[in-house]
Amino acid sequence: MRLLSLPLMLNHEFDIAIVGAGPAGATLALSLAPTGRRIAIVDKQLFPREMICGDALSGQVNNVLKRMPDGIYQDFLDQVVKTPSWGVRFFSPGNDPLELPFLVPTTKDQEPPGYICPRVDFDNFLFQRLKNYSNIERFEGRTVKEIKTESDHVLITTDTQTIQAELVVGADGLNSSVRQSVSERQLDKGYYCMAIRAYFEGVTDFHPENFIELVFLKELLPAYFWIFPEVNGRANAGLGIPYADMIKKRLSLKQTMEQLIQEHPLIAPRFRNATMVTKPKARGLALHRNLKQLSGDRYLLLGDAALLVDPFTGEGVGNAMASAESATAVIKDCFNSGEFSSTRLHAYDKRIERRMGMEHSTSASLLRFAHFPKLFDLVVRKANKNKPFKELLASAFTNDDVRKKLANPLFYARLVIGI
Ligand SMILES: Cc1cc2nc3c(=O)[nH]c(=O)nc-3n(C[C@H](O)[C@H](O)[C@H](O)COP(=O)(O)OP(=O)(O)OC[C@H]3O[C@@H](n4cnc5c(N)ncnc54)[C@H](O)[C@@H]3O)c2cc1C
Repeated sequence: MRLLSLPLMLNHEFDIAIVGAGPAGATLALSLAPTGRRIAIVDKQLFPREMICGDALSGQVNNVLKRMPDGIYQDFLDQVVKTPSWGVRFFSPGNDPLELPFLVPTTKDQEPPGYICPRVDFDNFLFQRLKNYSNIERFEGRTVKEIKTESDHVLITTDTQTIQAELVVGADGLNSSVRQSVSERQLDKGYYCMAIRAYFEGVTDFHPENFIELVFLKELLPAYFWIFPEVNGRANAGLGIPYADMIKKRLSLKQTMEQLIQEHPLIAPRFRNATMVTKPKARGLALHRNLKQLSGDRYLLLGDAALLVDPFTGEGVGNAMASAESATAVIKDCFNSGEFSSTRLHAYDKRIERRMGMEHSTSASLLRFAHFPKLFDLVVRKANKNKPFKELLASAFTNDDVRKKLANPLFYARLVIGI
């Protein structure tokens, strides 16, 4: 039944209301579009909008785009300006480099396994695609203030209207209004990072195959400084550090970043003739701690709203899009059965556990290991001397069994005692 209009407020009725039109929300809307369901997608910003990010898009992003409808992957390849990236170069706390290609063996006739693409462009590419579907209604520049779950629908109140839907999806980022209104999933400051980034021109010595670069900082482990090559000779560079360490050490992100650029033995020479072309901007990242309570009666949480950022790398775009893909299957099933209970929606939590559980436990192990500079240096030295070991590490990007190995503390214990 359609609700009566309230004075100065419009009421809209939909099947699905998605809050947030970043990679998670837009991917979900685009993936559900062919079902013909009436979809509302609400974002507090107007697109194109900036998003503070390192701009690195992992292979997972490519894989999800490939499975999305209506040739979106091909359009991404043809239309979006981006830098292809073939691997990652780590610098250990002792400043030794380790280059790991994303694909082993690397064959250049394949499509690049990753990209670096300004989020303002990537997110806008996804957002503009929403306009192709008459069953998707966009509410741009509308902030969601309140969610109210009733027995047979959900009411989503923005600053100007109320939207009614069968189901609400929280894809509204770190400080998700949906999570805070309907879920018990909490942001945990112990698993919270701060990161600052700026764009630069004139940075030198990039890897010839545009490897993304992570410089692990001995005095601040597991914090790292990143340098990612962007188009037109630009670089996206920044610093990520656990929030607790930042507070304990009373660090100013901006000052620490400036100091690294001026003094760090590996970073400073590369920035000697560089100019910062945008102001540095900081934002928080909620690292995944567990994969529980991602859904409940008439709601699901995706991406950063579900706190799905990889604890080691800080990567979140791929997980945001992957969570949207997993949600698509579960939402279709809910509409087929006409049931939106927490029991039915729990299938989403299970899918996420299956899909991301292993990767997250590997990352959590790597994060623990990254606290020990000597062990970190040992791994890098061994990989540089021993080709099969290096290939084993590189294959972790694509091989679950290798990830399982890296998630096991015994792996590191054996390494230390040399067996
Ligand atoms: C400095 C930094 C660097 C990073 N670098 C990388 C990287 O290189 N690669 C990577 O993969 N990840 C990176 N991440 C993580 C990545 O940015 C996030 O994981 C990713 O943006 C998550 O996508 P999302 O769609 O879940 O949320 P978001 O991208 O945050 O989108 C949420 C959307 O919801 C909207 N919204 C929020 N509140 C409301 C509301 N109340 N009402 C309506 N709309 C609302 C926002 O306007 C926004 O458009 C980085 C993060 C930081 C902070």
